[in-house]
Amino acid sequence: MKWGLVVVLVMWAPLTMVWSQQPVRIGLFEGNLPTSVELTALSGAFEWVDAQGKVIHEMGIKSALSLANGRLNLVEGERDYVHLRPTLPQSRVQLRAPGKYPTVHTGRLHFLVESGGIRCVLEAELEAYLQGVLSAEAGKGHHPEYYRAQAVVSRTYTIQAMGRHRMQGFDVCDAVHCQAYHGIGTVNDTLRQAVESTAGTLLVDRQGRPITAAFHSNCGGQTQGAENVWQRPVEYLVGVADTFCLAMPHAQWTKSVPSEAWRSWLDERRAGSSERTTFLPNERFDALPDSGARIRAIEARSAFGLQSSYFVAVDDGREVRFMGQGFGHGVGLCQEGAMQRALRGATYDRILHHYYTGVRLTSLEALGLFQRD
Ligand SMILES: [Zn+2]
Ligand SMILES: [Zn+2]
Repeated sequence: MKWGLVVVLVMWAPLTMVWSQQPVRIGLFEGNLPTSVELTALSGAFEWVDAQGKVIHEMGIKSALSLANGRLNLVEGERDYVHLRPTLPQSRVQLRAPGKYPTVHTGRLHFLVESGGIRCVLEAELEAYLQGVLSAEAGKGHHPEYYRAQAVVSRTYTIQAMGRHRMQGFDVCDAVHCQAYHGIGTVNDTLRQAVESTAGTLLVDRQGRPITAAFHSNCGGQTQGAENVWQRPVEYLVGVADTFCLAMPHAQWTKSVPSEAWRSWLDERRAGSSERTTFLPNERFDALPDSGARIRAIEARSAFGLQSSYFVAVDDGREVRFMGQGFGHGVGLCQEGAMQRALRGATYDRILHHYYTGVRLTSLEALGLFQRD
């Protein structure tokens, strides 16, 4: 081995440790806390630990937690808090709760009572968590460069979202409110390599701050600026053209609703200042054109359950037919466009620069984030 390479490896190793060991606390079961949980050790070994840090007992293959008198019941005794600690590397545990798909996790699991249910807080390494997020958010069977782009997006999003749930005792939840995370049971080699090969990489704005890495399923040919959806403009979230997603599954949609519902909804907003009920804008719009009032496209989207806020509306007096493009809010990275770009040879950084304007790729260690004491 050449000395130059040895020096590079020696210098690189401690940096790698910095971010790979940074824990993220993920609140599981968001939105529907169970009253009982079954646990199965799939590999390695675990022990149950109480609030004082004292080992209660080693976990066998199976264990169960339930609520009794508003407290956690774990074989012997009731408690307000217990913690499942892995005692071997690569230990994996499966969680099963009534009415939910079983999920597999690696890391520490904290259990506490919240709003009459059991809250599980998984303390996992950032990069392991991201593998699970990718599996839930990016789907299967796509090009590795697309997964790399999505890995950088999800890492950036996580860093920016950290602490959103601080009041509840964790950093991010496992639902789409933060990012969907259903464990690491479905992570394959392609996903794992996408996360590992971009480890620590994230996107920053011109001031060097991690960006709000918004993404959506399909932009319908044109992404839109953040101000159309969240009121305030964001310098790197501006509308860009994207023809790559137009042949993809979510590029077009139609939906019909009774004219009466559409007309009364419009009338409430414009107080009789216009009669117009058909709208045929030829590009993306923020507010319905010539509607007699400022009626935002996103309001129509949520009121009528539309796939996107990019549509035309044709009212024939009996029903109004919405014909739309894209799926999702349309801000930031378009996933189906990114998939196509990857298939046609774009690298992950080129994909990211297309959807986020004026951003820079950097690393967690370059930002001085997540350094160990
Ligand atoms: Zn959340
Ligand atoms: Zn697109």
